[in-house]
Amino acid sequence: MIAVLKQNTSKEQRENLIAWFRSMGLQVHISEGDYHTILGLIGDTTKVDIGLLESLSIIDSVKRISEPFKNANRKFHTEDSVIDVGGLKIGGGNFQIIAGPCSVENHDQILEVAERVKAGGATILRGGAFKPRTSPYDFQGLKATGIELLLEAKKVTGMPLISEIMNIRDLDLFEGVDIIQVGARNMQNFDLLKELGKTDKTILIKRGLANNLKELLMSTEYIMAGGNENVILCERGIRTFETYTRNTLDLSAVPMLHELSHLPVVVDPSHATGISKLVEPMAMAAAAAGADGLMIEVHNNPEKALCDGAQSLTPDQFDVLARKVRRIREAIAE
Ligand code: PEP
Ligand code: MN
Repeated sequence: MIAVLKQNTSKEQRENLIAWFRSMGLQVHISEGDYHTILGLIGDTTKVDIGLLESLSIIDSVKRISEPFKNANRKFHTEDSVIDVGGLKIGGGNFQIIAGPCSVENHDQILEVAERVKAGGATILRGGAFKPRTSPYDFQGLKATGIELLLEAKKVTGMPLISEIMNIRDLDLFEGVDIIQVGARNMQNFDLLKELGKTDKTILIKRGLANNLKELLMSTEYIMAGGNENVILCERGIRTFETYTRNTLDLSAVPMLHELSHLPVVVDPSHATGISKLVEPMAMAAAAAGADGLMIEVHNNPEKALCDGAQSLTPDQFDVLARKVRRIREAIAE
């Protein structure tokens, strides 16, 4: 349920109302806009007498939220959330390009790719240290060493980092990592999500291979209900009957998620297509559809990549992509 307060409500009146809601066992989420303050009520709101609430002089309107996700809901928070990532902003018109290899493989690889993608216009460096591979016999990532190499690349380039966590026991290793990624396969690992909700780290949550948008937003709710509101959503393609591409990029997810939620939406055309040639056109389409950012896999030698080489761009190809995406962004600016 949301209660919109009238513009002239005093601080004291507001606090009294909040205390009253809390006395009914409800959690109160406060969203202050330019004109109105919105109180989002979470919990069993059946005890709230809507008629009584509406009759209060400080109440402008009261609405029940029918969607089961509350914290991520745009009705709760009408303005776009802008999330700070190591001094950079994402969301609400702020656009960032995340780029880097699927996995951190060695010192020279991550440093070379980091320098090149930065020069091309990437603002956040990606690199997997813990890799969720379909086969247990495939390269599983460098783990703690991979994170150390990422931290070195951060020191050299100044770029904030994103890397995937698979198990909460590794959380301490992520101290210097600016965004923790929850991969598609872990989107419904609810225990992991709950633990991440207790942290103040920015979390990028990827849509599961076979999950709908409501399920993505409900997973997000697990993080936000714990008090962590720094969440970025990521569309990375879903599994359909199409087999020419690795997944099917659901681009309508971008405007749909913007309609449903105030959180930033990033698109990953690399995992969505699985084919390097398709990454650039889909990146441009995502930018045109209003994505707040892109995540692009780049490798200095894609043929030799230990993971996802077929979808990885060379640094030169990345330069072209970033240039074209900037032109799309200019073309759609109002
Ligand atoms: C990745 O980003 O390297 C990754 C494994 O992505 P996803 O979870 O989308 O498959
Ligand atoms: Mn990958």
